[in-house]
Amino acid sequence: SRKPFIAGNWKLNNTIAEAEELIQGLLPRVGAVEDVDVVVAPSFLSLSAVVDSARGSAVQVYAQNMHEKDSGAFTGEVSAPMLAEIDVQGVILGHSERRQYFGETDRALQLKVPRALEAGLIPILCVGETEEEREQGDTERRLRHQVQEGLEKVPVDQLSTVVVAYEPIWAIGTGLTATPEQAQETCGFVRALVQGFDKEAGNAVRVLYGGSLKPDNAAEILGQPDIDGALVGGASLDAESFGAIVKAA
Ligand code: 13P
Repeated sequence: SRKPFIAGNWKLNNTIAEAEELIQGLLPRVGAVEDVDVVVAPSFLSLSAVVDSARGSAVQVYAQNMHEKDSGAFTGEVSAPMLAEIDVQGVILGHSERRQYFGETDRALQLKVPRALEAGLIPILCVGETEEEREQGDTERRLRHQVQEGLEKVPVDQLSTVVVAYEPIWAIGTGLTATPEQAQETCGFVRALVQGFDKEAGNAVRVLYGGSLKPDNAAEILGQPDIDGALVGGASLDAESFGAIVKAA
């Protein structure tokens, strides 16, 4: 059976001082949880401080992005070895906001996902369709492309280490959640895509739902058979709300 996985994506929020305050609020609530993988993803600048605060607890610290190259003339970027050096344990890759606002491409992700794994980081590969794509019946085609490109260069024996997050773009930060049926159907489709690479890996891979997840809708969504956890935005900025979502997992 798959271990539940709840990740808080802090996005562009929290100074170092504010990040410290949030992790200190989280530790008493989720710092000793062992039956769920609990992850927080602060901004690059807060990573070291949060890693130090979370050390010795069950909370894992991930980055929100990284470059596919280890080093070189890529101004403003951060690489996998740099993250691994400060004991960051994983990285969110291909978030829809990075695709939408920062030109993140499936081509770059094809390199980023295996590069993260080589550096010992657990990648969370994010996929999801726009509202227009869903209305036009293009959801499955879009997801197939994103999953296949993102996992293309991952060695088969590492496929199940990757975590895949399904985040419908129309549900992010909008207060519109996918219905539990929609979320289950689409996460099941994502799992089937991974099974297309390798049956066992697809059975073992954790598939997360993301998009306006809150304490009051968490249990229903997390109770679906192909949903193993969540990538939480807004509600992860509040220790009590995030703690409640971890409890619902
Ligand atoms: P919200 O939970 O704020 O909708 O954000 C979801 C998300 O994008 C997590 O990565």
